Amino acid sequence: MAVSLTITEATKDALLATLSWQMECGVDEALLDSPPQAGDQPLRLSDFTKADAAPQNQPVPKTQMMKNQEMATQEMAKVSTEIPYHKAATSHSRQDLSSITDLVALRDAMASFEGCELKRTASNLVFADGNAQAKIMLIGEAPGRDEDKAGLPFVGRAGQLLDQMLACVGLDRTSVYITNILPWRPPGNRTPTSEEIAMMRPFLEKHIEIVAPDIIVAVGGTSAKALLDTTTGIMRLRGKITDYQTGFGNKIPLLPCLHPAYLLRSPQHKKMAFSDLITLKRHTDQA
Ligand code: URA
Repeated sequence: MAVSLTITEATKDALLATLSWQMECGVDEALLDSPPQAGDQPLRLSDFTKADAAPQNQPVPKTQMMKNQEMATQEMAKVSTEIPYHKAATSHSRQDLSSITDLVALRDAMASFEGCELKRTASNLVFADGNAQAKIMLIGEAPGRDEDKAGLPFVGRAGQLLDQMLACVGLDRTSVYITNILPWRPPGNRTPTSEEIAMMRPFLEKHIEIVAPDIIVAVGGTSAKALLDTTTGIMRLRGKITDYQTGFGNKIPLLPCLHPAYLLRSPQHKKMAFSDLITLKRHTDQA
């Protein structure tokens, strides 16, 4: 893989961190995969800092790499028998949110919703972060421990890596809006159940309707499967823009990408995430 770079005012440390990220992503030439289109902005890779330089940056022992490869292969080969999310809907999912037209009212409605058991074990409602006027809406899975404490999405190690990934294509929390499929932390960070996702889906649909982004980025397999109502694994879904069918009758382009928490465990797949970010950048530059 190759990418063109324009780095301005980068410090030596930032340059080294950037180079290290690019090498992990498989960048080996200062060129793009395909000729730039007229009007393409050069990609800006900047400000890669500490979180990504944590232990996962060190060479992965062979046995772990083999396990990671195996996991990826299994994910790709997965012909899942899971129940699609819409089929798992419960009576709680038929919330009447039709009178809600802004984010403050939506947040209040979520905070006072008593139908989801996760609320009882969580410390905080994690509603959203970033710029609600942004064209890009990132939707993750659910808060983890750090997010539950802070009441904000993606603030732990995975969140720091997400910030670095965004910076790599010139984005930050002023140019994206970030939320999750679920607003409460599942105990022990377990994967959300289909029932929990279905229960909270009307709130998510309303959230998307109010923010009305130009593109949604589904961060991770749980988010992508829930939003696209599919059992197909993230390795097959990632990097391809498809339509998200909104609850209010129109379609929004949706790009599934690998979850930063997964990339922390499987750094050899960062090149896929990088390629997906380039897809995002190209889409937003063209829009
Ligand atoms: N993982 C997620 O999917 N969302 C968060 O907010 C944090 C970690």
